Amino acid sequence: MTAETRARAACLIGWPAAHSRSPLIHHYWLRTLGIEGGYNIEAVPPEGFAEFVLHLSAHGFVGANVTLPHKERALALTKPDARARAVGAANTLWYEGGELRSTNTDIEGFINNLDACAPGWDNAGDAMVLGAGGASRAVVFGLLERGVKRVHLANRTIARARALADQFGARVHPVSWEAVNDLVPRADLLVNTTSLGMHGQPALELDIGRLPPHAVVADLVYVPLETPLLAAARTRGLKTADGLGMLLHQAVRGFELWFGQRPEVTSELRALVEADLTKV
Ligand code: NAP
Repeated sequence: MTAETRARAACLIGWPAAHSRSPLIHHYWLRTLGIEGGYNIEAVPPEGFAEFVLHLSAHGFVGANVTLPHKERALALTKPDARARAVGAANTLWYEGGELRSTNTDIEGFINNLDACAPGWDNAGDAMVLGAGGASRAVVFGLLERGVKRVHLANRTIARARALADQFGARVHPVSWEAVNDLVPRADLLVNTTSLGMHGQPALELDIGRLPPHAVVADLVYVPLETPLLAAARTRGLKTADGLGMLLHQAVRGFELWFGQRPEVTSELRALVEADLTKV
């Protein structure tokens, strides 16, 4: 086969990479859209990452997703857009005009999932974001871009919340972990970006009974699918957005960049990935 007739293929680069759901998602879209293409898993150790990425095309790929521990290196080795630079990490690579470009799709994954699950959420004046790690940067960027007036950013290590406030400006207010429960009644939107509530991690201790009745609750954790935070919010009748929805929505842009068609996050795709997650 010549380069022209060979089916296009993208890959996920990680170390380890075995438990990713990305192949399931991209194979579903390739199949349902009738596109002849591929999506492989490439387990690449840190010492081989630069060589692999700098010769991605020679390895047979039109683009890639990048996961732990390579996301920061990917930013340095490519031409990142403003989103990847703001988050400090790249998770999606593609070629444009012969150059290897990169972006971070966690931002649109989070925001597009909120739009799908809780339309009107962006009337929020005050958002409370728990956590100040990599995922939090994507969330804070997205919230500010969509016009949320104030982001109260709480983190166990307050210095990391302060660093994000320095980066993102005066609309971000660092909050100590101990002050969270006092601020809950002011939150129109509450987002958990910590790993608390994940299988094997401690629970997130939070009194959501004090959230206003119109509040929207989002959790980035997706193992378990329904975290105790989301279960409590649903019991109260609050609108929620879960981590699996974000994971599915963040995959859309890469597929579009590599295969030329914008795919949809369908209930059938969601059911497929849900079934796979319950096998763990
Ligand atoms: P990270 O950079 O390691 O940050 C972890 C965050 O959790 C930090 O704010 C950390 O606080 C906090 N934390 C950890 N243990 C804690 C504890 N015992 N008490 C209080 N805070 C604690 O990780 P990340 O990349 O941001 O990911 C965070 C979560 O988001 C993970 O569960 C990940 O799976 C999920 N995620 C989901 C998606 C999706 O598509 N759904 C995308 C990205 C990430 P300190 O700063 O004090 O350590």
